[in-house]
Formats: sequence, structure tokens, C-alpha cells
Amino acid sequence: MARYIGPTCRLCRRVGEKLMLKGERCLTPKCALERRSGPPGRHTLPRRRGRGGVSDRGIQLGEKQKARYTYGVLERQFRKFFAEARRLPGPTGENLLVLLERRLDNVVYRLSWADSRSQARQVVRHGHILLNKRKTDIPSCLVKVGDIIEWREAGTRTEYYKKLVETLEGKTIPGWLSLDRERLVGQVLALPSRDDIGAKFNEKAIVEYYSR
Ligand code: SF4
Repeated sequence: MARYIGPTCRLCRRVGEKLMLKGERCLTPKCALERRSGPPGRHTLPRRRGRGGVSDRGIQLGEKQKARYTYGVLERQFRKFFAEARRLPGPTGENLLVLLERRLDNVVYRLSWADSRSQARQVVRHGHILLNKRKTDIPSCLVKVGDIIEWREAGTRTEYYKKLVETLEGKTIPGWLSLDRERLVGQVLALPSRDDIGAKFNEKAIVEYYSR
């Protein structure tokens, strides 16, 4: 499946926010946004309109890109998620975020089995994860209530897994998931709520962006 392969920190600089795409590094002074906060390649362009030079459309676009970059989804797939969110009952913006949050790579990240969503995607794609006892190497696969996520036997023999077991202590798991820290088995207790996802996204602006 296609994915973005350009410089990761450039995405944060584009939206002007820390999207925490590189795990621990994002918390250090090495973070590119700490060193250069402006958007990439636009140092010399004149600012446009009010509100810091950004139009309403620009704000909507920025919010959409923020969600897309955070979950590591390309535009085409993001549009599919949006179409599905629209089809479901309830507020479209909230549905969209819940769908994104239910992705298997995101769940692996939320279980603290990876430092970042891109690392979680690698873990899934390398076939280390079982979903309901079946090997699942599709990061975009959506989990549902009751699903069990665990490591394949082969995955538990990797250096990555051994290090993970040592560093998992003290990591926080969101309330919609449970984790057996001894056996490293996760379960989906409920679908994530808007509060679980946090206030980072302005989903109304995303809906407005696609409603034009
Ligand atoms: Fe974004 Fe992390 Fe790179 Fe900082 S280090 S710019 S937060 S991806």
C-alpha cells in the first residue's frame, strides 16, 4: 500500500504543530520544529490575509492535513474514511476520528508497542501481529469491540520485542483498550470516544473542507 516516504518533520513544519511522528525524538531539542518553526520552502512568500495570513479554506485544509499526517494516511484513503464516516449515523467529524483511531497500526501504537504510528505500521506490516489469532499485516484494518491483539510467536523472539517488554512498564494505555502486560495481549474494550482521542483535531473544519 502506498505511503508517504518524504521527510517526516517537514509535515509538522507544514502545519506548524508538533504531530509527534517520530516518538521519543519529538520530545528532545532535536525536534525540527524546535529549531525551525516556519513552513518548509516558503520563507520568502508574502503573507496573505488576516488571522496570521491564513484564509478559512487554509485553516480547513490545515486541520485536514494535520489528521491525515498524524495517522499516516494518504489523501485517497483519507477520502474513503471520510465517505464511510458520512455514511455512519452521528456527527461525521467524530465518526471520522473514531474510524482513524480504530486502525490496527494506531491500536498497536496506543498499546505502547511502538514509539510512533509509523513504527507501529512497520510492526504490523512485518507480520508480527495476530488479530483474533490470525496473522494480520494490514495496518489499515479496523478493530472492533472484543478484538484481541497479540504478538506472533516469531515476533516474540525479536530483539525489538525483548526491548519492548523491558520498557513497557509505566506506559499509559487508553481506557478503551486493555493490556495484559505479562503476555502482551491487548483487547478492545469499547470503541474510542471523542474524549479518548483528545482535542488535538478540529473535526468540524475537516468536514467543512470536504463539504465545499
Ligand atoms: Fe514533528 Fe517529531 Fe519531527 Fe518534531 S521531531 S518536527 S514533533 S516529527
